[in-house]
Amino acid sequence: MFENLSERLGGVFDRLTKAGALSEDDVKTALREVRTALLEADVSLPVARDFIKAVQKKATGAAVTKSITPGQQVVKIVHDELVEFLAGEGEPGKLKVDNPPAPILMVGLQGSGKTTTTAKLAKRLKDREGKRVLMASLDVNRPAAMEQLAILGQQIGVDTLPIVKGEDPVTIAKRAKTQASLGGYDVYMLDTAGRLHIDQELIAQAAAVRDVANPRETLLVVDGLTGQDAVNVATEFDDKIGVSGVVLTRMDGDGRGGAALSMRAVTGKPIKFVGLGEKMDALEEFHPERVAGRILGMGDIVSLVEKAQQTLEAEQAERMMKRMMKGQFNMNDLKGQLEQMLKMGGMQGMMSMMPGMAKMAKQAEAAGMDDKVIRRQIALIDSMTKKERANPALLQASRKKRIAAGAGQDVSDLNKLLKMHRQMADMMKKISQKGGKGMLKQAIQ
Ligand code: GDP
Repeated sequence: MFENLSERLGGVFDRLTKAGALSEDDVKTALREVRTALLEADVSLPVARDFIKAVQKKATGAAVTKSITPGQQVVKIVHDELVEFLAGEGEPGKLKVDNPPAPILMVGLQGSGKTTTTAKLAKRLKDREGKRVLMASLDVNRPAAMEQLAILGQQIGVDTLPIVKGEDPVTIAKRAKTQASLGGYDVYMLDTAGRLHIDQELIAQAAAVRDVANPRETLLVVDGLTGQDAVNVATEFDDKIGVSGVVLTRMDGDGRGGAALSMRAVTGKPIKFVGLGEKMDALEEFHPERVAGRILGMGDIVSLVEKAQQTLEAEQAERMMKRMMKGQFNMNDLKGQLEQMLKMGGMQGMMSMMPGMAKMAKQAEAAGMDDKVIRRQIALIDSMTKKERANPALLQASRKKRIAAGAGQDVSDLNKLLKMHRQMADMMKKISQKGGKGMLKQAIQ
């Protein structure tokens, strides 16, 4: 769920968190991309615009704390704003089911998952809150739907109102109420008829049922995969019937997930639950914090930043390994290695990445290869032209002189570096020829 949205936003934030110090332009550019990501995820334009505006306003005035970078600060603001956009009042997953028997009216379009959700919720109320639940199908036009609810009821051990042919929905609702009172049920759920589209008859019927049942909760079930349509459906149902909360189904699919964001902002109605599959347990209460985290692909800011960093390093390492195995270890690769060594605190870190290099690492250490030496070596590589870096075989005497001078060092220093490069390249070749592929692969995983 939300994978596409989270991937897109993840990319934006990766760039942001890598950028170090942020300028106002950086923030603007990043937020433009966030906006595009939101639109692609089928968040409606006005909602995306409002969202960006809110973030921008907060980001501009925000004090940047010392412990995090400005980029992280923006991520945090985006995250908090997402939570605000998603959140509704009340505890997530809690339904008003006091004063038994409490009626719950289920409404929604046909195929939205209404009947399935009715049963999932009944099971949840029974299992988690110890409620006695009675379910009734009011879908008089589709006997199969009534049968379906009865079968699900049997499956989950929840009673259903016996089907009486020829009854109209209002009569069934009244009978459910009576039966719930007489039978000592805590909750009775009314699964209304769905239609493929919202029409007069559907609305009139649901309204009539609402008037006799006086529900404690009117839950609208909408298909999360339908994106913007889900929001339109919700707006219309709310206008005509009044809903107390929304259940978004099919959030297990690879939908664009934007519906969740727009839903709350447009309708003002809280999403109470999300459906995550066809099984009776595949229903989760809606936690704005968790969903915001999922949208951003992170549990919290710190882990996001760490992840971005790790991914970058892992990707670099993998790219380098691939090149090495092809015998393409050039000066750019060596520079990458040296920088990696600096970052990881010298040879030890590098050894852990590259088996087979242990011996050379020890030699280097013995030769006093500390940070200062590494930096000088990097300076030598920086002094080379692009062509030279890609192909060190070009380095004849005059080029060597120029490079060493450029880095303020002697040609002998450069020769040492070239020797090290040759040894590393040879080693890589040997390892891959000996079928050390598995070993190398292991090293980068
Ligand atoms: P209704 O016409 O609105 O009552 O829809 P149903 O409850 O009959 O559901 C239609 C189909 O959607 C069924 O095959 C359900 O199993 C499936 N479904 C319902 N909720 C979910 C969900 O959250 N995820 C997935 N993947 N399928 C669901």
